Amino acid sequence: MRPVIIAANWKMNTTPADAGDLARTIASRTREPGVVRVICPPFVCLAAVRDALDDPGLAAPDGGRAAVGAQDVHHEAAGAYTGWTSAAMLAGLATWTIVGHSERRRDAGETDGVINGKVRRAQEARLHVILCVGERLAEREAGQAERVVRDQVRGCLDRVGAPAPADQDVDWGAVPWLTIAYEPVWAIGTGRNARGADAAAMAGVIRETLGELGFADRGEAIPVLYGGSVTSANIGEFLAEPSIDGALVGGASLKPDEMAGIVARAGVTAAARLEAGSRPGEGTRRDAAPTS
Ligand code: PEP
Repeated sequence: MRPVIIAANWKMNTTPADAGDLARTIASRTREPGVVRVICPPFVCLAAVRDALDDPGLAAPDGGRAAVGAQDVHHEAAGAYTGWTSAAMLAGLATWTIVGHSERRRDAGETDGVINGKVRRAQEARLHVILCVGERLAEREAGQAERVVRDQVRGCLDRVGAPAPADQDVDWGAVPWLTIAYEPVWAIGTGRNARGADAAAMAGVIRETLGELGFADRGEAIPVLYGGSVTSANIGEFLAEPSIDGALVGGASLKPDEMAGIVARAGVTAAARLEAGSRPGEGTRRDAAPTS
């Protein structure tokens, strides 16, 4: 049974003075059993968010704690890279990281090859990775969306494997080390979101590609999230798709009311999956989520 994950990407917002309060407010209002919550603040706010979330009172009734994630890591382990942050430096600060976000592909010129290095360094540092992929509007309009996403998955995960032999002994908990976020670039921060069916079709393409790359069980165990102008009003459309396992949320993740609504809806899917998985004779991956 794949986990249901809601990850908050705060981008370049908040300061060390206010990030802890925001994280605490969000965590206290999203205590849904079965939902994996991840908050990804700017690097300078990681310690404040970690400290704020280190409060047993913010755990969900099933004991689930909100985790801390970074928004990026460098593709090399160490060296003369002024201003950058390596995966290993996150020890004690974060247990997750986003890599390959389209804003970094756009603004920092990150290629699939560079992102491949980031995935490897993060995996070596035992971080859960959220790998972002997604096509631009012109590519979708030219009928190239599937090819673009397939190429990104191949390039970013080339020779990565699942898990690498050295990781066989790592306890990743109930959540695999890798999660993929399908984020059509034209839907990020624009208020324009894809349809649930588009996201589901792309999840199929992603898992097919994972299978070609040799991921176990043809990639069926790897969570696929949707990202792109997700709100409490539209999250239901995505979670109604059995192949979509949650969301990477940008703008709305800074608003506690929005996060409360998004995670509440995710809790419905998590409960439905748990119930379907525990029914005798039911496949553990069947998502019995309602259709809205
Ligand atoms: C993101 O930052 O990954 C994102 C999806 O942003 P937004 O929700 O604002 O579109």
